[in-house]
Amino acid sequence: VARKKIILLGATGSIGSSTLRVLREHKDRLELIGVAAHSRHAELAQICHEFDVPHAVLQDEKAYQSAKQAGNFPPATNLNCGAEALAELATLDAADIVLVAVVGAAGLRPALAAIEAGKDIALANKELLVLGGAHVIEAAKRKGVRLLPTDSEHNAIFQCLQGHPANQVDKLILTASGGQFRDTPSSELDHVTPEMATQHPNWSMGPKITVDSATMANKGLELIEAHWLFGLEPERLEVVIHPQSVVHSFVQFIDGSILAQLSPPSMTFAIQHCLLYPDRAPGVEPTTDFRTAFSLDFKAPDFNKYPCLQLAYDALRSGGASAAIFNAANEVAVERFLAKEIAYLEIPKLIEHSLSHITAPQLPSLDQLFQIDTETRAIAQTHRFQ
Ligand code: NDP
Ligand code: MG
Repeated sequence: VARKKIILLGATGSIGSSTLRVLREHKDRLELIGVAAHSRHAELAQICHEFDVPHAVLQDEKAYQSAKQAGNFPPATNLNCGAEALAELATLDAADIVLVAVVGAAGLRPALAAIEAGKDIALANKELLVLGGAHVIEAAKRKGVRLLPTDSEHNAIFQCLQGHPANQVDKLILTASGGQFRDTPSSELDHVTPEMATQHPNWSMGPKITVDSATMANKGLELIEAHWLFGLEPERLEVVIHPQSVVHSFVQFIDGSILAQLSPPSMTFAIQHCLLYPDRAPGVEPTTDFRTAFSLDFKAPDFNKYPCLQLAYDALRSGGASAAIFNAANEVAVERFLAKEIAYLEIPKLIEHSLSHITAPQLPSLDQLFQIDTETRAIAQTHRFQ
């Protein structure tokens, strides 16, 4: 059988490295033909050596120059740089599937380029759907490409929905770990430092999403992501706190039956599911073992403790560009929090401030969305709290 040819955008990140584990295990089925990163060129070069990758892109010009100088890429690898090169990589003729695992809104253009070129997409990046969901879904339908959800909750829902027509679905229930402060009283959250917020009890992930998980902005982004991927209105999207992160989400059907997908808290399960879809093969790590006793707990989230979750619901209900504003303001808020410019509890305040200071058109074009994204970042970047 011909091997599936994979392009991996964001190869040096957390999802990137989980993807490489899957690729190592399934060399007979999967072939890595293109990789991209932002600036970590030595790591990217190493990946090109290990997997004999013919095409690579560094988004950052300076990193590209350093790589050229260091001569650390294999001579057979065609190395390019810049946003255009990233979009070109995502549309390579030979590619069967593009895994979008770059972080942030930067994922939108390459994802759209890949869809327009008729490539199936495995989507780890959620910000791009939050920003440009309407356009991405329209393009994917028009081109007849698959959008395979790699985010664990959405992958779980996707698996539970197989064989069930949309009119049988009552609601989707997304599980959330509650982040690293789920047992910290709200009154103590003003002491949270970047060091504390970038440690997660269950998952090993990049810094941005780890902070998002503490504030539950991550679950907010995922509600919006679920809305676009599965076409359900906010009234039919719920969140439940599940500290063990073993149940990755639920689908409730109109007759009251509920299906769930379970696996340990590691992204290799969802990544492999997407890359091999619709096939299955042995996983790269052991699954949940019921011979050892463990419990699974569930409780409703406290919206006062997690204002970002409420803000995301509100943004989804207002529609138009509100979700784009939520996303851009959150990205800047997290960067500023990590740079110690704002306090942990000011993250939701900065999002709220941005949402109330930008008027968003109801049916924004792609250009308008990018403009609103830029405008929001400027406001969120310069706002000073008293
Ligand atoms: P990381 O920060 O660990 O990695 C980000 C990757 O994207 C790196 O390879 C980075 O390159 C690259 N990158 C960043 N900006 C650009 C850019 N402008 N152009 C090209 N490449 C870029 O993030 P994660 O792996 O944690 O997350 C990736 C995405 O997946 C996010 O959208 C996140 O929300 C989502 N996700 C992550 C999960 C996880 O478990 N980590 C779970 C579910 C979803 P460099 O190394 O050079 O900076
Ligand atoms: Mg998730």
